[in-house]
Amino acid sequence: MKKFFTWLLIMILSLSLTACGTSVGSGSATSTIKDGTYTGEGIGKGGPIKVEVTIKDDTITGIKVVSHSETEGLDKSMDTLTENILKTNSADQDAISGCTLTSKGFLEAVNAAIASAGATPDMLKKIDGNVGVTTEKKNVEETRDIVIIGAGGAGFNAAIEAKMAGSDVLIIEKLPVAGGNTLISGAEYAAPGNWLQKKENISDNPQLMIEDTLKGGDHKNDPELVKTVAENALDGAVWLRDVVGVEWEDELMFFGGHSVKRSLIPLGASGQEIIKKQLAKAEELNIPIYYDTPATELITDKSGKVVGVKAEGTDTNYTIHTNKAVIIATGGFGSNIEMRKKYNPDIDETILSTNSVGSTGDGIVMAEKIGAALTGMEYIQTYPICDPLTGTLLYYDDARLYGHTVIVNKEGKRFVEELGRRDVMSMAIKAQTGHAAYELIDHNGFVESKLQENHAAELDYLYKNDLLVKADTLDEVAAFFEIEAEELKKTVTNYNSYVDAGKDPEFNKRSLPSKIEKGPFYMIKAVPAVHHTMGGIKINPNAQVINTEGKVIEGLYAAGEVTGGIHGTNRLGSNALADITVFGRIAGQNAAK
Ligand code: ADP
Repeated sequence: MKKFFTWLLIMILSLSLTACGTSVGSGSATSTIKDGTYTGEGIGKGGPIKVEVTIKDDTITGIKVVSHSETEGLDKSMDTLTENILKTNSADQDAISGCTLTSKGFLEAVNAAIASAGATPDMLKKIDGNVGVTTEKKNVEETRDIVIIGAGGAGFNAAIEAKMAGSDVLIIEKLPVAGGNTLISGAEYAAPGNWLQKKENISDNPQLMIEDTLKGGDHKNDPELVKTVAENALDGAVWLRDVVGVEWEDELMFFGGHSVKRSLIPLGASGQEIIKKQLAKAEELNIPIYYDTPATELITDKSGKVVGVKAEGTDTNYTIHTNKAVIIATGGFGSNIEMRKKYNPDIDETILSTNSVGSTGDGIVMAEKIGAALTGMEYIQTYPICDPLTGTLLYYDDARLYGHTVIVNKEGKRFVEELGRRDVMSMAIKAQTGHAAYELIDHNGFVESKLQENHAAELDYLYKNDLLVKADTLDEVAAFFEIEAEELKKTVTNYNSYVDAGKDPEFNKRSLPSKIEKGPFYMIKAVPAVHHTMGGIKINPNAQVINTEGKVIEGLYAAGEVTGGIHGTNRLGSNALADITVFGRIAGQNAAK
């Protein structure tokens, strides 16, 4: 019944569209739907998706995406859906995992186009395209020097290094798209002693990063691993720039818990820049990637050495033997609620997640099965500023990292240092009325944080969902979220006096670059969500996996979020990119030896 009304609505909406000349139908004697090409629009993750659907003899014969603003890499899901729609002559398809919002928007657009032909789905010819029907799978055996499990940031870094060292390399990826959490992150990169710090006369060195990281992780980190990351971080950033082709913006970001401004920003302040360049480099080096191919099991010989991996593709079961090594780069387990609860019962289903759907801890489980030691599994980080509806990390928060934000509660009062640690901020927000925070910036902060330039689609989404307000006065901002206006104004007056004095006596905010004084003012509502799992497979500084007896497991390396020990109880912002680059490279170099 509900479906029928949805269709009725689409029909009514789209019939008015047809009147605007979107249809160029020619007609056919036997078919019920008028042949032609019809346009339709849906809303994806990045905004509107516009498609042209061609229908002939009640059959969809072509779909063309006219325009979209979806994340590069995830837009591949539209090709897969197109294939499935053409095979089955039906737009009633499941979303592609890892690309739910893009899939939904695309299917909405196709359905709208069908409706604009004056048709309902049951008027399309029935075809059994066997999509989703399991047929007998092929069994394929092959041999490679090195198999890398996971096409995220760490996996690509490992693959590129290993291939450049002369090894025959294969990447297998569980999802239909590459990128993992790296793709959907801001991908800022802590690099002590970098070229931009020199320009700005910021004195920094690896030792200072070691101290910050250990302090940030409550000294539960493995100091040797921290040292390895800090001492090689700058070299990794230069390598990404000069070898992989990553472009860094011309300014730095100041992340909570770091004692100086040391974090590089990739072009567009997004992991898309990293993954796009890594994919291009992998292609240039002829590194094959098997998509839709989750690894399920590590293969060991009698001595316990890892000699291969088993994986399940959509129509093929793979047994891949390795001459040299397997590198696990499967990311964390933030999207696996059962696993979260197993190790930390507080992080249950009531907490949303910013993570990719691929972050289900597979690599940890596979490694543990063959005797690998795990470490710090209970340390799960929440990110303080996320979408209250979906848990997605909000890039509006860049404004806070530039120092321009004041954060208040429903009562209009500040309650935490805006550049404090993520866990401290998250728990502080959780303790406020409605478990929510409100992030306020003024016109100057908005412009200087480049929000419109870098994150326009997110801003549109927030406006549409009443999670962001833009208003000329603080009274109007307060009224929108039903915040106590007098208290909010008092808070802002006090905060501005701290900016003048260069010191915040209330919360000791470590950077006070600008006042909140010039309208229009902007405010969002935000909640914390799971962001990073600090625990994982135990490794040594060579990225070799360590077993429960403290010995190296031969033939097995791990890198990235799947490993534990580097970030202790809490990862500092922008340390993950340094980690996945340094250890991804080390794993690739050593595996290739
Ligand atoms: P990191 O930052 O450590 O590189 P990411 O989350 O960016 O981690 O990437 C991890 C990648 O590993 C994701 O693309 C994810 O889909 C993939 N992955 C997870 N589990 C498996 C598995 N069992 N087999 C293959 N790939 C996997």
